[in-house]
Amino acid sequence: MSRSLPAPPLTPLIASLWLACAATFAHAEPMTDVQALAQKEQQPLLDTLRDLVGIESGSKDIDGLNQIAERVAGQLKQLGGTVEILHPTDIYRLDDTPETIGPAVHAVFKGTGSKKIMLIAHMDTVYLKGMLKDQPFRVDGDKAYGLGIADDKQGVALILHTVAMLQKLNFKDYGTLTVLTNGDEEISSPGWRSTITKFAADQDAVFSFEGGGTDGTLRLATSGIGSAYLTVQGKSSHAGARPEGGVNALYELSHQVLQMKDLSKPEQGLKLNWTVSKAGTNRNVIPADAAAQADARALKVADFDELQKALQEKIKNRLLPDSRVELKFEVRRPPLEANDASRRVAAYGKTIYGEIGLSLKVDEKATGGGTDAAFAALKTSGAVVEGMGLSGFGAHSNDAEYVQINSIVPRLYLATRMIMDLSTGKLK
Ligand SMILES: [Zn+2]
Repeated sequence: MSRSLPAPPLTPLIASLWLACAATFAHAEPMTDVQALAQKEQQPLLDTLRDLVGIESGSKDIDGLNQIAERVAGQLKQLGGTVEILHPTDIYRLDDTPETIGPAVHAVFKGTGSKKIMLIAHMDTVYLKGMLKDQPFRVDGDKAYGLGIADDKQGVALILHTVAMLQKLNFKDYGTLTVLTNGDEEISSPGWRSTITKFAADQDAVFSFEGGGTDGTLRLATSGIGSAYLTVQGKSSHAGARPEGGVNALYELSHQVLQMKDLSKPEQGLKLNWTVSKAGTNRNVIPADAAAQADARALKVADFDELQKALQEKIKNRLLPDSRVELKFEVRRPPLEANDASRRVAAYGKTIYGEIGLSLKVDEKATGGGTDAAFAALKTSGAVVEGMGLSGFGAHSNDAEYVQINSIVPRLYLATRMIMDLSTGKLK
């Protein structure tokens, strides 16, 4: 691992960290050509980021999404990829899925080796059209600000410039390097989830470029989010004159909710909580309709399957046999579970960071909501690593989203080296 090339000129921060670290730990030296190139690539990446932030691309802004897809596809073509802009055909309709879903950009770079590596990020944001004027791209000190810059325009830019670095290094030892950027992550990927799962299935490694949080932690697990929708149909009738002629949907709903209130298994991270309900129209009418919603969380894909079965079983037991009860379960996002391959790849990331005098945290305890990495992991035995993006803050906020400029060079170095060492078999 150790290379005998001299250390290149470093930015003062990295240099001081590097020296401090070098004094106490013996570690491999950086690949100076890759590191020097990462430093050269910082400004072009910021230029790309400025362009991407400048295109508003909320999940429901189809014009904006088409525009950013063109921009991303164009850059990938210039880098030598076989590129296509895809439109969704297999849509998993969720309660809040819009009629039209934005495109995805798919690019494949063919190499001379055998390893299959995929890089994913999303082009859409949570913001509504018109918000960019209050939060344009700007650099202030060590931060770059802009609408959607942390979540997830930085991820798209980082992928583009990682591929650019490999091209400049004339590195082609991978079998295929696939890039997939989608336009519906923020609405739980109804249009692209099956494609992400399909393309990821035979990859040796998938790197997902959501932001690395404030400290650049790589994430190997995220919790899954589901919703249950319970609907009851009864029959209306005058509540004063002839209540016995109705079928009270509210009574049936209440019965159902109570018999489904203890399905959580906190010891394994499975949670089901009923949170929303609605019934009836007027005080003096026996309600004909009632509905409720529950929030579900899980750490294992199988737990959602079992929960769905348990719910479907429960609704067979009715209080009012004349009522009609239906239950729909949505997996908004499956959980991402750490596997041995992802542990190995992430651990190797620590070694790579060590070469440039930095330490890297890896978290395999699920925290917070899921991402597209979970869809990538559904059918693969390869590594899936989330949080490869820049450090930053303020995702989904209205005024302060930013990325840390000093995380650009380390992240470019990390992604490029991971791809190189996976391809050559140094990272097994
Ligand atoms: Zn995101």
